[in-house]
Amino acid sequence: MSTIDGLPPLRDVIARHDLRAKKQLGQNFLLDLNLTAKIARAAGDLAGCDVIEVGPGPGGLTRGLLAEGARHVLAIEKDARALPALAEIASAYPGRLTVIHGDALEIDPLAHLTPPIRIVANLPYNVGTELLIRWLTPAAWPPFWQSLTLMFQKEVAERIVAQPGGKAYGRLAVLAQWRAEARIVMTLPPEAFVPAPKVHSAVVHLTALPEPRYPADPAVLSRVVAAGFNQRRKMLRAALKGLHPDIEALLVAAGISPTARAEEIGLERFCALARGLAAAPR
Ligand code: SAM
Repeated sequence: MSTIDGLPPLRDVIARHDLRAKKQLGQNFLLDLNLTAKIARAAGDLAGCDVIEVGPGPGGLTRGLLAEGARHVLAIEKDARALPALAEIASAYPGRLTVIHGDALEIDPLAHLTPPIRIVANLPYNVGTELLIRWLTPAAWPPFWQSLTLMFQKEVAERIVAQPGGKAYGRLAVLAQWRAEARIVMTLPPEAFVPAPKVHSAVVHLTALPEPRYPADPAVLSRVVAAGFNQRRKMLRAALKGLHPDIEALLVAAGISPTARAEEIGLERFCALARGLAAAPR
């Protein structure tokens, strides 16, 4: 069977290298190269970009990224069994694919890359949220990445793009939307993967804004949001009382009713409260 890149179909690659999916590594593979090329296109114009891919596995998305013209792909994979399959892709695209064997939570890929940098990944579910939070909370802004195009369980994707007023709205939405533009660009049924997971999945595309939407100190905003949503059923005057002895006055000054709950509060108000807290004597 012919493929978009002349390399063997992914089913053959998986059979030849005995890449049976391991649940503990969050392995649900995409085998349709048209679909992986579509995900690569959702990341924007890759031609002048270096791309970080976390968890290439047998390389379906990697092949999509390369076929769609990524200048260079740096792929970080924990499972040594996938390395021979990835080496075959690297030979078909000389000089354009570097594979690092290791844990993406422990590897700093920046030394290997030249900006502009985009991150594209079908993330292992067990490390996906942790990686996203790290990418959203770097020491300085703008971050090293221009965009993130990431597959999550649909429920997680919905939390990233959620607006105030519902259960999905929380810390992830505030962190993502404060300094990035986030939208769901694709949803996929379980059958798109092998093996099929229990739930639907979705691809979220986040573009880094040059500056935050509203000024605030990142550490103070993080504390406010963590405290507010950790006890999301409580009124804010109770949930945030550990942050300042006069939290009620600070809430009012930020235009927030002290009896409101965190899920009712939009970004602008959270940032106003973070600024008030940062400026308030204790
Ligand atoms: N990209 C492939 C695809 O779309 O078919 C595989 C995606 S699969 C959902 C997740 C991949 O991440 C697996 O290949 C798994 O081995 C790898 N992985 C799991 N934990 C990892 C970690 N901490 N660091 C790097 N890769 C990891």
